[in-house]
Amino acid sequence: MDLHTVEQVRRPARAEEIASWEAGFAWLAGGTWLFSEPQVDVHTLIDLESLQWPSLHATADGLEIASTCKVVELDRLTHKAPSDWKAAPLFRECCRSFLSSFKIWNEATVGGNIVMSLPAGPMISLTAALEGICTLWPRDGQPRQIAVVDFVTGEHQNVLAPGELLRSIHLPVHALRKKFAFRRFTLTHLGRSEVLLIGTRCPEHGEFLLTITAGTLRPIQLTFAAVPAATELKRAIDDAVPFSLYLDDPHGSPAHRQHLTYYFAEQIRAELGN
Ligand SMILES: Cc1cc2nc3c(=O)[nH]c(=O)nc-3n(C[C@H](O)[C@H](O)[C@H](O)COP(=O)(O)OP(=O)(O)OC[C@H]3O[C@@H](n4cnc5c(N)ncnc54)[C@H](O)[C@@H]3O)c2cc1C
Repeated sequence: MDLHTVEQVRRPARAEEIASWEAGFAWLAGGTWLFSEPQVDVHTLIDLESLQWPSLHATADGLEIASTCKVVELDRLTHKAPSDWKAAPLFRECCRSFLSSFKIWNEATVGGNIVMSLPAGPMISLTAALEGICTLWPRDGQPRQIAVVDFVTGEHQNVLAPGELLRSIHLPVHALRKKFAFRRFTLTHLGRSEVLLIGTRCPEHGEFLLTITAGTLRPIQLTFAAVPAATELKRAIDDAVPFSLYLDDPHGSPAHRQHLTYYFAEQIRAELGN
């Protein structure tokens, strides 16, 4: 869609060129959301592509994902990842978990999806489950870091201050080496995720992590020293997810989302417990 209120598109070579931030400015990533509906308050787009940040950088410590990395680039990494990254197939699972999938994931960026902070943001599910750490660049301060699971605070809400940039997401190698289980439900083919749950288990210490997304207003992560008993897991879900935290929209009712959360959590527990 044409954005008739936009008067200027800036293409900085460095983020520092945007020295001050005004109401009406917006960072432009893949544009799949920005150009999908009227943005009547926006008069200036600042294109992040011109910063030319390398999309993916794998090191002995893990994977650095630039916020500008296209979802399709992460998808392609699935089969090129180091062989000990047992969780690499999760890239593909999550990249293909968008509504209308391929139309969006060829242009959308990982960072744009996390900053949108929608419950059904599959890049949130992926990076939260793999213990991702966001690096944020405030406009007038030192870079700061925050876990992805704490970055999103509610539906379409996050910790970013006005003008603050999500620079990158780091996935630690110990998380990439974990065994995983993935469950997702949509009411329609290629529909929006109603629930998306990911479990991981540490091969060395047996720690079990369950990340609950899409069905809840924000991501929830439960940590256990070992795979819990079924009753312990259900109790932990009830403690962490009050009924009011389940999303109510045309893609699913809170009751159905709660039911699916219990159902898939138990499947994941059984799968990773074997
Ligand atoms: C048909 C359709 C289906 C969709 N399906 C889904 C879906 O299933 N799940 C879902 O979550 N979303 C979905 N979306 C919404 C949106 O397309 C995605 O969330 C997408 O990942 C956004 O990424 P983008 O790079 O295109 O962001 P943009 O549209 O470029 O930007 C989105 C917002 O994030 C800000 N932003 C972007 N990058 C940064 C950054 N690095 N730092 C600070 N701010 C930044 C922008 O200013 C803007 O406010 C869908 C949209 C459409 C049109």
